[in-house]
Amino acid sequence: MEKQPERGRYYGSEKQRMSDVTTPEGRGEDGELDRTLRPMRFEDFTGQKTITDNLRVFITAARRRGEALDHVLLTGPPGLGKTTLAHIISNEMGASLKMTSGPVLDKPGDLAGLITGLEEGDALFIDEIHRLSPVVEEYLYSAMEDFTLDIMIDSGPNARSVQIELKPFTLIGATTRAGLLTAPLRARFGITNRLDYYDVEQLQRIVLRSARILDIAIDIEGGAEEIARRSRGTPRIANRLLRRARDFAQVIGDGIITRDIADYSLNALEVDEHGLDDMDKRILHCMLDKYAGGPVGINTLAIAVGEEPGTIEEVYEPYLIQEGYLHRTPRGRELTPAAYLMLGKPLPPHRQAQPGLFVEGKAEETD
Ligand code: ADP
Repeated sequence: MEKQPERGRYYGSEKQRMSDVTTPEGRGEDGELDRTLRPMRFEDFTGQKTITDNLRVFITAARRRGEALDHVLLTGPPGLGKTTLAHIISNEMGASLKMTSGPVLDKPGDLAGLITGLEEGDALFIDEIHRLSPVVEEYLYSAMEDFTLDIMIDSGPNARSVQIELKPFTLIGATTRAGLLTAPLRARFGITNRLDYYDVEQLQRIVLRSARILDIAIDIEGGAEEIARRSRGTPRIANRLLRRARDFAQVIGDGIITRDIADYSLNALEVDEHGLDDMDKRILHCMLDKYAGGPVGINTLAIAVGEEPGTIEEVYEPYLIQEGYLHRTPRGRELTPAAYLMLGKPLPPHRQAQPGLFVEGKAEETD
């Protein structure tokens, strides 16, 4: 039987922080919500314009040639639309999509079962592809490159390899941790895209679309904007906050999500004024309290906050840098004046004496 993908369970470190409403993992009812709200065509997919423009061209060209689309790798933090894009790609190709995830495919047989069931042009989506076992990954190489699978049957003296011909298919790999992909696997993807965080205007459009689908009354300029602003640049979080705000609107308001209701609900849910999640705040406070605002090396910081260095680097840090709270220097990560301001602390004297330090584009080396 085909195994179902276990969305979101493998994000970040082994430890799971499921309690925070701003944590972008999909789960339980969110999974259900994700399916209802998931755009199925490019027209409904907001933002990420360069990626969608290019994909449209590649899909049109592949369809004209009557070929399967080249393999696609989608990277970026959770909740930004990687799974959604996989659905859209297969839809626009007029093909079907099979879904699984790296940790679920632990034996070559699992992969063989899935992949031999694909029809020509179909897509296979592997979420958290960086967590494939090395042996399964090894089998994937020839499947992706030559559309063949060399399966070993029997063992000992009777062991022999049988080659199975596959129908041309498209592998769509998704990962939050691009840095953990092996070079040979990465090289086999013809199309690679990194999804970025969404700006407030784009999230506002996403919130309004979701409100329309779920029949939620929301004030466009007030409620929708407030939710968008505090969603950590992430559509999945925006959708989740929308649904919670609807509960508050029904119980303490007159059913309409106004800015006041949105603000009240987000405060009640302890969603930060800036949309930061628990780990974001932990990183910033740790840098401030334990390392005098930095610079601090990524490994030291990771141990101090109890997270993997790679997860900090690829999941948390990009947002904190984008929002201007953190920057990289040759000696490590450092809080910016904006972070001090947000944390309500004065800039330490030694930082005030270095006026040129925060000029954009300077000191971008990692430690
Ligand atoms: P990922 O696979 O990157 O973790 P998903 O594709 O599952 O993220 O996206 C989570 C939810 O966010 C989707 O169900 C969808 O409703 C919403 N979403 C994501 N990206 C967009 C977008 N660009 N436009 C509209 N909704 C989006």
